[in-house]
Amino acid sequence: DHSVSEPTPDLFPALRPDHDRPALAFGDRTLTYGQLARVAGALTGELRSARRVALWATPTLETAVGVVVALEAGVPVVPLNPKIGAGELRHVRTDSAPDLVLAAQDDRLPPALDELPRVTIRTDPDRVPSRAPVPVERPAADAPAFVVYTSGTTGPPKGAVLPRRAVSSTLDALEDAWQWTADDVLVHGLPLFHVHGLILGILGPLRRGGSVRHLGRFSTEGVTRELASGGTMLFGVPTMYHRIAESLAGDPGLAKALAGARLLVSGSAALPVHDHERIAAATGRRVIERYGMTETLMNTSVRADGPPGTGTVGVPLRGVELRLVEESGEPVTDPDGIGEIEVRGPNLFTEYLNRPDATAAAFTADGWFRTGDMAVVDADGAVRIVGRKATDLIKSGGYKIGAGEIENALLDHPDVREAAVTGEPDADLGERIVAWIVPADPADPPSHTRLADHVAAQLAPHKRPREVRLLDALPRNDMGKIMKRRLTDRAAAATGDGTAHD
Ligand code: ATP
Ligand code: MG
Repeated sequence: DHSVSEPTPDLFPALRPDHDRPALAFGDRTLTYGQLARVAGALTGELRSARRVALWATPTLETAVGVVVALEAGVPVVPLNPKIGAGELRHVRTDSAPDLVLAAQDDRLPPALDELPRVTIRTDPDRVPSRAPVPVERPAADAPAFVVYTSGTTGPPKGAVLPRRAVSSTLDALEDAWQWTADDVLVHGLPLFHVHGLILGILGPLRRGGSVRHLGRFSTEGVTRELASGGTMLFGVPTMYHRIAESLAGDPGLAKALAGARLLVSGSAALPVHDHERIAAATGRRVIERYGMTETLMNTSVRADGPPGTGTVGVPLRGVELRLVEESGEPVTDPDGIGEIEVRGPNLFTEYLNRPDATAAAFTADGWFRTGDMAVVDADGAVRIVGRKATDLIKSGGYKIGAGEIENALLDHPDVREAAVTGEPDADLGERIVAWIVPADPADPPSHTRLADHVAAQLAPHKRPREVRLLDALPRNDMGKIMKRRLTDRAAAATGDGTAHD
């Protein structure tokens, strides 16, 4: 157990006024550690009496500075997604009740944030008053560092309260798994309001004394430019690696830049095997997958010094306990058995804000967190995610079938650009397998028979989709995750439309 008096380690030991190595770069706006210490120090005093602050989390230098300010001031910070709708933003504001919002000078804040006092984040080290930072007693390890709202893939977003211990332990475990050093330069193209982009992508390098170069908006040209000029690591979500995989054939500069990187990391959703293979073939490099979530930060990763683990999310990170359980809650004993992942460790959140019911339901009596994700564990200990219990586990004809492997098989077909698989109620089978397809050529979509035979030939006859539905695009959220709820809602609302018949 973690005692209440356990002190938090200094989150950013490299943040010293005399340290002149680069810390943050957003386009041509850069800050060294010394400059970052100075701009952050000039603002901590303005947060002194706040109990909790919101951060308008655009992909900018201001956001990166703002999060450092809040953590240095010891005040929990709520990153706000600048793209969410007014209704959701109002919910987040009311639910998290911040005392003020940190924003850039030029940001125009929406009416949902009206009358919230605003503190402007200034990033020009030559223009901030050179006051000494207000000394803050370093908060305890279990003091909250963040309230981060989940992505809302399976339901309305919930605010996960993350203690400082979760941040330091996850970043230190990733240092161990990825051999992250002060010489690493992370090329970063993700948004800054989720744990992946903000906590791993900004705080990870800062904790190590390394540096971040943010692309602002992801582009393959940006990736090439930054990796070719000193970047050593790349962080992305599967939609980005998919774009990279599509571009590689016609872009030798991109292939060369990726081949020279030390580490390519993917997460937030499963990276299709087809994309793994295309990237490895063109660059000689493997993409490493890591698995985590808002509530637990990072649970597992393929290790930089370990086996390639393609198609897996690697092994539990240092300090993280992981087990698979049956629906009954009993541990899975069959070596090939699918079970729900439960985790325990210093990386866990403490509660969902204002949701004692949801918090209680999320933990077992002995403190394991129920992730809602289903997996199998390979003989060598690598975790293979099957999908989410709620939307990706299809129970059909007495079999438990993971949507992911059928999606991988479909994506391997040349006529398929994007694919998602869902289960729908079926009188005979319990559930039947439905494939949602974005065809490579909308004018000439593949037939149901062709795709179903392709799947059955690769996997097993009972994994054949019973139906194929055509779409122009899959519904995705801002991390590129497929919103399967929208597909199943659509199916319930209108049956038959867009169905590809034999
Ligand atoms: P909500 O909880 O609001 O429905 P969400 O679960 O998508 O949204 P996040 O916490 O951002 O919100 O995402 C965590 C989830 O993302 C995990 O539970 C898992 O389902 C999925 N995930 C993360 N990394 C991977 C990965 N490498 N492979 C497969 N799935 C992943
Ligand atoms: Mg979730």
